[in-house]
Amino acid sequence: MTEQTVVVVGAGHVAASAARALRRRGFAGPVVLVGDEPVGPYQRPHLSKERLATGGDDGLWLLTPAWCEANDVILRTNSPVDRIAADTGSVLLADGSAIPADVVVLATGGRPRRLPGVEGERVHHVRTLADSDRLRERLTAGRRIGVLGGGFLGSEVAAAALGHGAEVVVFDRDPVLLARAMGVDIGAALTGLHQRRGVDLRLGRAISEIRCGTDGVVVVTEGGSQTVDELVVCIGIEPNTDVAVRSGLAVGNGVQVDAQGRTSLPNVYAAGDVAAHDHPLYGRVRVEHVDVAQRQAAAIAATVAGRPSTCRDAHWFWTDQYDINVQGLGLTGIRPTDTLVTRGSLAELDGTAFWLRDGHLVGGASIERGEDLSVARELIDLGIPVSAEQLADESVELEDLLDQEEVPV
Ligand SMILES: Cc1cc2nc3c(=O)[nH]c(=O)nc-3n(C[C@H](O)[C@H](O)[C@H](O)COP(=O)(O)OP(=O)(O)OC[C@H]3O[C@@H](n4cnc5c(N)ncnc54)[C@H](O)[C@@H]3O)c2cc1C
Repeated sequence: MTEQTVVVVGAGHVAASAARALRRRGFAGPVVLVGDEPVGPYQRPHLSKERLATGGDDGLWLLTPAWCEANDVILRTNSPVDRIAADTGSVLLADGSAIPADVVVLATGGRPRRLPGVEGERVHHVRTLADSDRLRERLTAGRRIGVLGGGFLGSEVAAAALGHGAEVVVFDRDPVLLARAMGVDIGAALTGLHQRRGVDLRLGRAISEIRCGTDGVVVVTEGGSQTVDELVVCIGIEPNTDVAVRSGLAVGNGVQVDAQGRTSLPNVYAAGDVAAHDHPLYGRVRVEHVDVAQRQAAAIAATVAGRPSTCRDAHWFWTDQYDINVQGLGLTGIRPTDTLVTRGSLAELDGTAFWLRDGHLVGGASIERGEDLSVARELIDLGIPVSAEQLADESVELEDLLDQEEVPV
């Protein structure tokens, strides 16, 4: 039997994880990663954190040329893909060339959502290394930086900009930063953090107009108008589904895949930001987190290598703002009826919020307490019952809960 060729379309987090996992699983066939960026896979989270703060590349690269060579992985950069031709078993590039492929993993990620007419030299989006480097050059002391959107990206950019000595204004129609993603308690704690650090928060007001001029960008809200030197637009992403659509794959909010990452076409998988996967716990959902992209890629690699695998983990992510680490687990599945329990003090930036349903943990979000979420992950995986009292009581070691089978009454 000839060895199969795996082609990954898009050379980002999924591609790097899939290549590593395929080789670890003993997959011996050719592996080709095809990306449209001029460089190989890198840590995208660095773009709004380490790279934006310092311009350094410590820990930036996910795969080195030496690793690719040693593991017989071919990395093709500057190579936009047009479509997958499943009928001929090939991936067609925009330059008209074709790469033979028995198995394709579609991993084209996403692109920043843009506002019509909000463009020009002073407007920024942060998705690629080039975007981050261009923005960093503008983050100088005293320069006024506007950030549109107070979600993960916006609040990280605000922190990095402040670190460069810039004046920072964040605009969001929500009254609390990150509340939609992490709940109001964590959101309020982080809003307080940014306020104390000196970010000018213009929250809870809708933006009625943005005027981009040569001297600055004017942002108009119900509360008046603000002129900034640069405007960073951080209002989310859209999945890059163009290749999927041209290839005839089923696409909704992302490429539709089952729990094993299979698309509607045989031998074509999709993972990462572009994929709307059918998660055993949460149903169909598209998630934009590194850990999820990596786990989906690893599950696909295992399946391709002959051990069918399902990505069933509770979704996990982190964000770093200033020197504060924040993490979330299972937040995709939280319902308004779940019981919220707090351990420690969120307002003092040292605590964890847990969500309980029917005596079981379903999610958590921590500030400077990543270790709580490590235990929470195991409690969820093992389905161990816990009580609100135990979680809230700081004298109870969370790890001890892993050894209990029943909650004491
Ligand atoms: C600034 C920033 C900070 C982030 N911080 C965090 C964080 O702190 N924690 C966290 O969990 N997540 C974070 N994320 C999200 C995380 O980076 C993504 O979830 C992750 O990159 C998804 O991996 P992926 O492989 O699906 O997509 P990507 O890593 O985006 O890779 C997709 C690649 O496909 C390429 N591509 C697109 N179309 C084509 C085509 N037609 N042909 C060839 N190539 C193509 C793209 O250019 C890109 O290189 C952050 C994202 C950004 C942008």
